[in-house]
Amino acid sequence: MLYCLDCEFNGFGGELISLALSGEAGELYLCRPHAELDGLDLHPWVEEHVLAILEVKEARPVVVALEDFGRAIQAFLANDPEPCVIADWPEDLMHLMQCLIISPGQMLRIPDLSLKLIQVSAWPTDIQGAVQHNALWDARALSRALTLSRGEL
Ligand SMILES: [Mg+2]
Repeated sequence: MLYCLDCEFNGFGGELISLALSGEAGELYLCRPHAELDGLDLHPWVEEHVLAILEVKEARPVVVALEDFGRAIQAFLANDPEPCVIADWPEDLMHLMQCLIISPGQMLRIPDLSLKLIQVSAWPTDIQGAVQHNALWDARALSRALTLSRGEL
């Protein structure tokens, strides 16, 4: 099944803050605990536009330490024999892959996982109440844009 991915991170090349997958099979929204986020040297733009809206209406994250993101993603996709994760920005896929590497030479296995980078703009979206730069809403907006681009109205 298809899942649209979005990540928020601490500016270009910065550490992961939150990650969301939105697909027909369900949604996953992970966010690092404040204790971890406080330890990052947060970019002012990120503090204002990302941190302030990590938790909004209809997008409540599961708070998980970064080192446990991978297992949460693995568990979320466990019942899907052929998950395909779609993103509109390469760094989103990089962060997802990084989450699956748990130590040197050790990775979390997700059988037949495929990744796809698409050229579709998630925003503007026609979803009522959507909040840009909230990872879950961004993933939903991408999913909506993908549906529209394929003419599956
Ligand atoms: Mg985003």
